[in-house]
Amino acid sequence: MRVLLTNDDGIMAPGLQALFHELKKSHEVRVVAPETERSAAGHAITLSDPLRVKPFRGPKGFRGWSVNGTPADCVKIAVRAILEEAPDAVVSGINAGANVGTNVLYSGTVSAATEGALLGLPAMAVSVKGKPIDFRPAAAVALVLLEKLAARRLPEGVSLNVNVPNLPLKDIRGIRVTRMGRYRVVERFDRRVDPRGNAYYWQAGEGRVEQRGKTLDVDDAALRAGWVSVSPLFPDLTADAFRRKMSAWGLGKIRL
Ligand code: MN
Repeated sequence: MRVLLTNDDGIMAPGLQALFHELKKSHEVRVVAPETERSAAGHAITLSDPLRVKPFRGPKGFRGWSVNGTPADCVKIAVRAILEEAPDAVVSGINAGANVGTNVLYSGTVSAATEGALLGLPAMAVSVKGKPIDFRPAAAVALVLLEKLAARRLPEGVSLNVNVPNLPLKDIRGIRVTRMGRYRVVERFDRRVDPRGNAYYWQAGEGRVEQRGKTLDVDDAALRAGWVSVSPLFPDLTADAFRRKMSAWGLGKIRL
């Protein structure tokens, strides 16, 4: 398969390079990735600045194109302008850090895969939770799931959000299909003062799991229990069950 590989940690990130070397064993891999780290870029795209694309070479034969844009920019420009042939799949990662619960909404890693799905391509995002990270088990898991992605078809617009525990392969319990949970980061803003006496803030915080997200059918719970979590995601954000109930509000009868 021709695989477009991207990420949000930037083209120099070890997770991207580990995944490149693993996928290259059995696929044609093309890398188009942000030139610098763009974690938490979400699904942002660049409209008011030009995008510059440069060839990049790394260790052990790693090569690709760097783009001074976001992960979603990278997928769009790769498919529409850089690659001579359309890819058969888009893989984003391996991100250093889990993308579960509400983090999914901020994640550039996940948004690159979502963008691939919006362009009609099979796509998945791969992330690892832990520190320090050994990316090799997650790269092996990504290769297995990519083969599955090629053999099966995802519904239009659906992409896979894959989170892998930072464990040796033999200690990973297996793969669970999960849903996006309620894990979220509770922010704290550290207030400091610069040398000229002006206040500034650093955003910090810690992850919190809400009680409802304890079952292994939920992404962060499965991950914490040592499973690979695979959530199928869909870019339609409508709360559809509530949309039907909302007709009871009688908004249609309001005279404007
Ligand atoms: Mn990242």
